[in-house]
Amino acid sequence: MHAVVKRNRAEGAGIEDVAKPKAAKGEVLVEMTSTSICGTDVHIWYWNHWAQNRLKRLPIIFGHEFCGKVVEVGPEVKSVSVGDMVSAETHIVDGTCYQCRTGRMHICRNMKILGVDTDGVFAEYVRLPEMNARKLPKGLEPNLGSLLEPMGNATFTVLPHDCMDDIKGKNVLVAGCGPIGLMAIPILKALGAKKVISTELASEEVRVRLAKKVGADAVLDASMKYDDLVSAIKAETEGNGADVALEMSGAPQALNLVFDALTPGGRVSILGLYADPVTLDVNNAVTFKSATVYGITGRRMFQTWDQMYKLLASEDFRAKLSSIITHTLPIRDIAKGMELIHTRQAAKVSLKPEW
Ligand SMILES: [Zn+2]
Ligand SMILES: [Zn+2]
Repeated sequence: MHAVVKRNRAEGAGIEDVAKPKAAKGEVLVEMTSTSICGTDVHIWYWNHWAQNRLKRLPIIFGHEFCGKVVEVGPEVKSVSVGDMVSAETHIVDGTCYQCRTGRMHICRNMKILGVDTDGVFAEYVRLPEMNARKLPKGLEPNLGSLLEPMGNATFTVLPHDCMDDIKGKNVLVAGCGPIGLMAIPILKALGAKKVISTELASEEVRVRLAKKVGADAVLDASMKYDDLVSAIKAETEGNGADVALEMSGAPQALNLVFDALTPGGRVSILGLYADPVTLDVNNAVTFKSATVYGITGRRMFQTWDQMYKLLASEDFRAKLSSIITHTLPIRDIAKGMELIHTRQAAKVSLKPEW
């Protein structure tokens, strides 16, 4: 089969002819219908510091966002059948560690990540543990099916627990309008947020345009003077500050912002990843504010998936989600897709299995 293989510890990757995998016991084999490029894939492609430290096993087929059709099931597979359309939970867990046995599988101590630790989806076929294959809602468009993994990050950031009382009728700040921040905006609106205020650098024109398109009530320029930015958020929230603030940018200043712009007693979710340790005035940011803070990684397995499927039932929501896909390319042009993201021309790039 064709696959995009990262063979060398250097920039780039090549399309190669490799052996087609087989579904082993408890596994399914999926033929790709659609894939999309994640920030992680861009890091792997350009071989930045994160990728150099994180990727243990080369050569590897990378990529993890996809949907496709099950074409083979291994022995003992019960919940998925040949012909089912699926996407995947990309956290591959052992099911036996302390976290897995106490309802926190998404932070399994022996977790492997699809397309980072195991062969991924930039290929004609991928094999997956049965538990990771998630059947798509009926009729979901394939290009949206490949967005479920990042949409799950956004959904988990918005809903770190089952209760949505702090969203409905409330003011929410979304710091950072990368693809996952953009996805959080229509999720918040669908859940009844009163106002969604987002921040992004004005120079990120694609992101700013899309933030407005998917429903942000205000898009503030993150490059304005810090105190002015905090004041602008307060002005948008009757002087109170945000009830909930989602840090989705990975910029150190934004981590400070989500606390400084938070109303006392509010909630922060942190999804952004920082290149270096960040300084934060914990006394004033967290303690005296009595703030609730959630760290977000992956998706809750599998409550987040159920929450996503409910959101996807709305046609308006699906239209907003699909507007985040700015480019669709054949996978043979994957280098072009990487470049479009790297040079900030694209939000999400969708790849068709045309080799
Ligand atoms: Zn991803
Ligand atoms: Zn585990």
